[in-house]
Amino acid sequence: MTPSDGRRRGPLDTPVRLTAMLSGVPSLVSLHSMPHLQQPSYPDPAEVDRVVAALRKLPPLVFAGECDDLREKLAAVAEGRGFLLQGGDCAETFAGVNADNIKGKLRVLLSMAVVMTYAGQVPVVKVGRIAGQYAKPRSRDTETRNGVTLPSYRGDAVNGFEFTAQSRVHDPRRLMRIYNASAATLNLVRAFVKGGFADLRGINAWNADFVRNSNVETRYEVLAGEIERALAFMMACGVDDDQISTVDFYASHEALLLDYEHAMTRIDSRTQLPYDTSGHLLWIGERTRQTNGAHVVFMRSICNPIGIKLGPTTTGEEANRIADLLDPERIPGRITFITRMGAGSIREKLPPIIEAVESSGRKVVWSCDPMHGNTFEAANGFKTRSFADVCAEVNAFFDVHEALGTWPGGVHVELTGDDVTECLGGVDALDEADLAARYETACDPRLNRNQSLELAFMIAERLSD
Ligand code: PEP
Ligand code: MN
Repeated sequence: MTPSDGRRRGPLDTPVRLTAMLSGVPSLVSLHSMPHLQQPSYPDPAEVDRVVAALRKLPPLVFAGECDDLREKLAAVAEGRGFLLQGGDCAETFAGVNADNIKGKLRVLLSMAVVMTYAGQVPVVKVGRIAGQYAKPRSRDTETRNGVTLPSYRGDAVNGFEFTAQSRVHDPRRLMRIYNASAATLNLVRAFVKGGFADLRGINAWNADFVRNSNVETRYEVLAGEIERALAFMMACGVDDDQISTVDFYASHEALLLDYEHAMTRIDSRTQLPYDTSGHLLWIGERTRQTNGAHVVFMRSICNPIGIKLGPTTTGEEANRIADLLDPERIPGRITFITRMGAGSIREKLPPIIEAVESSGRKVVWSCDPMHGNTFEAANGFKTRSFADVCAEVNAFFDVHEALGTWPGGVHVELTGDDVTECLGGVDALDEADLAARYETACDPRLNRNQSLELAFMIAERLSD
């Protein structure tokens, strides 16, 4: 994470100020009086009030200055001077808050970023789906197994994964646990990225304990060797810079739970502007992006950079309407559109949206989520995705942007640092029978380490075309 940069922005020197002053942060009560989908139904409202009041008193998890730095980096991406890599679990879990798991995810993300930066020759903005990604929107409110129907699992932020009536009760005390889990995760992430782990000179060591069994790893080692030689040359020339030993890394999650996100919103002491300090970048999901809905109204009032998922039913007019609402002043880096069309639809559905937004004159980051439009149920019942579909959607994303002369700004992926078997295909050619071996996700299937690196090489090739 970037430390607060000490730059002083005067009271009126940022256009964000005007927007925030005009809109203000709506009260939680007013948000709940608007259409608000995908919220928990808590049995005891008084308990929710107690937790929200306690959260309001706690320190912010991220600083407003860090959010501004990320927004500036995203502004460069929107102009074609960088690439956004956003990735991590579909759903983080409290059980997953341990050093090995956090280190594994960070390592795969940093390795992907190195591949893209070196082979693709573009600066990569690194954002984790991490330290806050605990709440899940669901297509159905209930789940039935063997004739028993219970509330769906909505992420550890809301209820338990275990299929029992007790575990599936919506419990507001879990909001305090997300805060603590996010704080513990961020603390370790900050230590890793600033404390030496991310030093490019140790790039081979990041992957020292990887099983050396695949062609992806060989490619990675060759590349790491080249980078080490280049760095040794720079050192010999006397270049020694923080940029080599530390990394700017940012945290993001879907801002789904209005109670939690509202409780984490603080006024920045430098500028008197509101920021949601639960994460650097927050996104609005495909299911909660209604323009008259509480999520859009809330997000409009905070100054963080904002992601918006756009699925295949989106029209260009809708995309412009939502962007106008969330970013009337067209602040560079404010809006990232995360398109998730599906490999079969993207070539038809994406171009009109890009054309409509670009012709409005607005600059956004166009990022490709090649996961959420490509989920299906395997014959043996596992929810899965095929690596080939993921690659096909990313390739089509590059093709579409190339044809329109626009910049393919980034990718948004669900991944883990472990050798899980949740998505089919990839270098290890996983098939449906392999899925049971290590299917560990609490929600959607993630790319494993090898599949993630393979995707990074493919993206690097497209970037350097
Ligand atoms: C997700 O990112 O896990 C998700 C639910 O995505 P979407 O809102 O695009 O369906
Ligand atoms: Mn998901």
